[in-house]
Amino acid sequence: MTIHKLIDGFKSFRQEYYIDQPDIYKDLVEKGQHPEVMVIACSDSRVNPSIITQANPGEIFVVRNVANLVPIYRNDHNCATSACIEFAVRDLGVKHIVVLGHSECGGIKRLCEHKGIGPERDLIDGWVSIAETAGATDLEGFEKFRHVERAAITVSLENLVTFPWLKRRVKEGNLELHGWFFDLEAGNLLTKMASGEWNVLA
Ligand SMILES: [Zn+2]
Repeated sequence: MTIHKLIDGFKSFRQEYYIDQPDIYKDLVEKGQHPEVMVIACSDSRVNPSIITQANPGEIFVVRNVANLVPIYRNDHNCATSACIEFAVRDLGVKHIVVLGHSECGGIKRLCEHKGIGPERDLIDGWVSIAETAGATDLEGFEKFRHVERAAITVSLENLVTFPWLKRRVKEGNLELHGWFFDLEAGNLLTKMASGEWNVLA
């Protein structure tokens, strides 16, 4: 059963990071965490940023939500994503923020289809409406889905710079924003270039 597999997984993790390499967590406890990179990823079980980038403990600060979305800045105490962004930027001083989207995203599919299609939901439609403008396209069906998956990353990158202290750091050259897209089927990682084109990174 999966739950037992996870407990066994923790035992393997402890062997690797506490017994075989005792300095890793000793340092992370004594010196604290100093991740240089924040990753904003989807909650999708197939796109765990630590697994797909093979990051070590302490290397990436992660927030995950439905469709890896960033809302526009406002004083909303209930938005976990915004609070994570503030902590990453103002307290941890991360040098990079990666918005990591992916293909076959259920949240984006919902955004593309929710008007009249699919079951009633209480909360998801309101959340994915953050990327409503990404859905404004003449494309239809699968092509629309493919387009909106990437356009939603652009919306999140644009929304990031509505956070005033984040925008300041970008302007000063102390923070770099990245749009990444993980193609599940091809096994590729793409990045959004300044020109707006998407190029294969790896
Ligand atoms: Zn997703």
